[in-house]
Amino acid sequence: MKYPALYLIRRIFFHSRRFWPHIAGIFLLSLLATPIALLKPYALKLIIDNGFGSHPLPEIIIYLFPENYQFTFNSVLIIAVVIAITIALIDNIIGFVSWVLDTLTGEKLVLNFRTLLFNHIQRLSLAYHDSKGTSDSLYRIQWDTMSVRAFMLGQLPTLISSFITLISMIVVMFMIDIEFAVIAVCVLPPLFILTRLSTKLLRKDWYKVKDAESNAMSVVHEVLSSLRVVKSFGQEDNEGNRFINHANKALKGQMKMARVGASFSFAVNMLLAIATASFLYLGATFVQSGKMTLGELTLVLAYLGQIFWPLQSIIKNLNEVQSSIASIDRVFSVLDEEKEVKESTHAVQLSRSKGEFKFEAVSFAYEKDKPTLQDVSFEIKPGDRVGIMGSTGAGKSTLVSLLMRFYDPSSGNIFIDGKDIRNFKLADYRAQFSIVLQEPVLFSTTIGENIRYGKPGATEQEIIDAAKAANAHEFIIKGKEGYDTPVGERGMQLSGGERQRISLARAFIKNAPVLILDEPTSSLDIRTEAQIMEAMERLMEGRTTFMITHRLDTLNTCNLIIHLENGKLTDLVRDHDANFLSNKKSAFLNQDLDV
Ligand code: ADP
Repeated sequence: MKYPALYLIRRIFFHSRRFWPHIAGIFLLSLLATPIALLKPYALKLIIDNGFGSHPLPEIIIYLFPENYQFTFNSVLIIAVVIAITIALIDNIIGFVSWVLDTLTGEKLVLNFRTLLFNHIQRLSLAYHDSKGTSDSLYRIQWDTMSVRAFMLGQLPTLISSFITLISMIVVMFMIDIEFAVIAVCVLPPLFILTRLSTKLLRKDWYKVKDAESNAMSVVHEVLSSLRVVKSFGQEDNEGNRFINHANKALKGQMKMARVGASFSFAVNMLLAIATASFLYLGATFVQSGKMTLGELTLVLAYLGQIFWPLQSIIKNLNEVQSSIASIDRVFSVLDEEKEVKESTHAVQLSRSKGEFKFEAVSFAYEKDKPTLQDVSFEIKPGDRVGIMGSTGAGKSTLVSLLMRFYDPSSGNIFIDGKDIRNFKLADYRAQFSIVLQEPVLFSTTIGENIRYGKPGATEQEIIDAAKAANAHEFIIKGKEGYDTPVGERGMQLSGGERQRISLARAFIKNAPVLILDEPTSSLDIRTEAQIMEAMERLMEGRTTFMITHRLDTLNTCNLIIHLENGKLTDLVRDHDANFLSNKKSAFLNQDLDV
């Protein structure tokens, strides 16, 4: 819970300004509902009064017919039928237009916020995602945004119309009888206090419920995306329990809110009942003493009902409003998160870099006082093949993340072609890199589209050429649908080696000057590895390459070795001799470290 409700409402109004005319239209159409409802029994009245009875027809109807027209029983019946059908037609046209307008506005409003949130969340720092997790973002994009619709098209118009009715009824009451009006208005302050109390309680708890619901969803998400591990460890029951625990928390929260809401409603209704009873008592004594006629009392009591009805409607609405406000709060608190590493306002374009890098006393920490990289300095020449080695947790991936500007260093600078990387537009800078990971990431579309991801708009021929260069063409055309074969979610319908070759093809088609290879062959068998290494050799030609690897033979192909331990650079060897790595390896084995 971050912001005051009024502030959120102001912002939601500002963000949905494109839809104000639509919302106003929906509101106006809903106002037509009352007069139409009042007109509905009119046809029946006409038949009773003017068909069976002998009352003269209303002026407006007579006016529509020629002078001296004789109205018979049958003509009145026909007029009544025509009126009934016309009213039904108008009613249904209004219903139709409101329905369509409501759906159109509602869906567009939600889509608008979803897009805003999705675009923003994609650009938030990795640090944000590391701490919040994917499911929380999913919940905010999918569910929290729906509250914007509920609030703008449902709860808010109801609140406004109830409020208008309330004010007009109070004014009418003052015109009829000041004393009674004053008593009626007396219920407002205690109601106001009750409302404040309950809204405070409700909103905080709604926030907690949404957190719990998002946690339950995160279990589902985590399990479904790692089903193989869950199944192999036989953890289905445990995961089920984890889900139930979170879902139960949400349920308990919902129940608590229902109790608060119901108690509040109980208190309000009792307050109104006491007020009505006092009116009755006072009114009866007034009538007895002749201060008021019975008719006046009846009228006052009827108006009292008209004041209390909108009050009840406002209060009933408040629980839902609090739920929506909690969601809207969650939407805006994400939108207010700072985007990732900041792009300088003077950022300049970067076309194709030479692939020259310099780290100058770079330090970095994910958490304060726990340095992950300390004072790392080195220089890379264009076309260098850099092997990054070190034990697990030494900071190798962090170094690459800093290189790609996923994070900015806590101190020190990184240069590309002699200029600080912060000088360049982020998108331009990142376009300099192709990345091939140990676990290639594919999207659930066709093989062709997955390759095209490296170069949107690439032609079929370019895709085929890239696949050939990556030793992937052969296996792709063997498939029934060739390049149109779907790969399944995250490429699960392909083997590890096939996925890796597609990700290499993607790197070929991107043709970036810098290549990052993060253990690209460590999860493959030897034969597949050989095929991939061959393609990779081709890919590395003429590019600066950073390679995180534990493999000695792969490291041997590098002309520069960076060795990290505990976040510090322990060795930087250019053009090492044959003994260097084998000595390293035996030293590692003695220390029980992995190479
Ligand atoms: P390596 O790639 O050499 O195995 P990493 O660069 O992944 O090492 O990690 C270096 C250290 O930073 C480790 O201690 C790891 O626990 C920590 N670390 C890595 N990523 C994060 C993160 N997102 N948040 C906090 N700590 C992290």
